Amino acid sequence: MRALVTGSAGFIGARLVQRLAARGDEVVGIDRRPRRGGPGLHIVMDLAERRSLGETARWAGWADAVFHLAAQSGVRSDLPGIDARRRRDILTAAEHVLAATPARTRLILASSSSVYGEAARRRGAWRASREDDALHPVSRYGRCKAEMEAMARGRRRDGLAVARPFTVIGPGQRPDMALSIWMEAVRRSEPITVFGGLDRARDVTDVEAVVSGLTAMADLGFCGTVNLGAGRPRLLGEMVEAVFSAMGAETEVRVVPAHPEEVKATCADPSLAASQLGVDLTTGLRRAAARQAEARFGLPAPAR
Ligand code: NAD
Repeated sequence: MRALVTGSAGFIGARLVQRLAARGDEVVGIDRRPRRGGPGLHIVMDLAERRSLGETARWAGWADAVFHLAAQSGVRSDLPGIDARRRRDILTAAEHVLAATPARTRLILASSSSVYGEAARRRGAWRASREDDALHPVSRYGRCKAEMEAMARGRRRDGLAVARPFTVIGPGQRPDMALSIWMEAVRRSEPITVFGGLDRARDVTDVEAVVSGLTAMADLGFCGTVNLGAGRPRLLGEMVEAVFSAMGAETEVRVVPAHPEEVKATCADPSLAASQLGVDLTTGLRRAAARQAEARFGLPAPAR
């Protein structure tokens, strides 16, 4: 397969490029950031700029599948002008990729679990979010992704696949995500900051499983929307324990009020991914955290 991967210098995109190249696919990546090493051609270009449209169309026309992962990611960002950045890097970039990709080419868009908003509580457990649920995004990031999904469905009836990943963990995780921040704090023997309480939960998903899901979406010509989430929410307390275990050290834990845009829990229904894509998104939290710490700090990964 010939694959175009946008966001190829990012956490998930870089891993996807490696996986595709390792199995013999021809891969071209586009990202506005350069990347350090890696297989295939990497083009440094801003997808949201109009003048990039021609080059994007050239590579999208060459590809059998386009994986659009480039975005201004993350719920909690307080960067100056963040709303404009999100609109530009989520909506305008996706608009350009949609315009550039021929109808015959498989197009896989990365959305997010944030489109669901808060996981509802039912009889003491969280109700799993299903792909056909009504969307109630709480964050501006989630609303932007929901808008991107709607825009894509309006413009492309066939050959569109939308992936909704749930909190991705593992080697190369973005430095602004909780596990990365906490590992860095433990390494410096500084306190860990937990937002909102140790009883909040995230349905964390191994980056390897997410990449398997994305790859299967292209291989099978999947059309529609699918959750890429493990289906087992983990308490933030469990995640802190996994970080301590991976780092072989502990520090003080400080709980502070959560950002108002952060939900208490996320919970995926992974059954569509299992039945339609044949992927098992089950995630070993401690094992994935250990691999993440090993990749970041060269720590030996414990055998559990
Ligand atoms: P990331 O931030 O590591 O990677 C995104 C990449 O996109 C970056 O390298 C960035 O430079 C690039 N990019 C952004 N705007 C661009 C533009 N205008 N032109 C060219 N390149 C641009 O993010 P990630 O964690 O790898 O996430 C990949 C995708 O998956 C994103 O769409 C994100 O919203 C989505 N997602 C991620 C998670 C997660 O837990 N990591 C969860 C749900 C959804």
